[in-house]
Amino acid sequence: MRYRVVIPAAGSGRRLASAIPKQYLEVAGRTVIEHALTPFLTDARCLEVVVVIAADDARWPVVERALADRRLRSVPGGAERADSVWHGLAALQPAIAADDWVLVHDAARPCLSVAELETLLHELAQHEAGGLLAVPLADTLKRAVGDSPWQSAKTVDRSGLWRALTPQMFRYALLRRALEEARAAGRTPTDEAQAIEWTGRVPQIVVGDVRNIKVTTAADLELVAALLAARSAAEPR
Ligand code: C5P
Repeated sequence: MRYRVVIPAAGSGRRLASAIPKQYLEVAGRTVIEHALTPFLTDARCLEVVVVIAADDARWPVVERALADRRLRSVPGGAERADSVWHGLAALQPAIAADDWVLVHDAARPCLSVAELETLLHELAQHEAGGLLAVPLADTLKRAVGDSPWQSAKTVDRSGLWRALTPQMFRYALLRRALEEARAAGRTPTDEAQAIEWTGRVPQIVVGDVRNIKVTTAADLELVAALLAARSAAEPR
């Protein structure tokens, strides 16, 4: 099974309050985006990778040169993540067929393991539309009211609630049409699965790994460092 990848990497990472966008912070000896790309670049089934970057991004060319992989290309992104993904899809090679698979993976998720990617590919191989990695919610959920200090007004039933991760994996034409329809309707999905849901289809959930975290805050970066160190210590030498 072959597939293509779109990596939205055009965000500024405001919540991290760092001068360097989070995808270019170094952790375990490499940038976050290099870690995010590794499972795909080490997989021969991956045909091409479009990295969607901010128009003024001077860091990506340096990373791209270091990776030296002919499957890599880049295009400028948009105001919202969904706009960036849409630009990425439009830049895929024209030879792409309607039912070819496209995986969308956040540049800010550096801990995707080969095993987790393998599970996603395996479980969705025969699926008509596609799906996403997600993990069930473990904590009790509170609906807060007011401003800081917030008050817990209500406990929300967490049964049936999952956290959506990436990669998300859909058939090319379906995903492109879903994002186009959302744009035409002036709606901004927060992930690909939401755009697919709006077309009336039901994305498949594939159970992901809680370690596949997204770097949002400085604390996340500490977790990533610890997770990657543990993984490299467990690898055979
Ligand atoms: O901001 P957030 O963490 O939700 O962003 C998820 C991913 O989407 C990041 O890799 C970020 O670089 C990317 N993104 C993008 N274009 C935007 C906003 C975010 O490619 N306009």
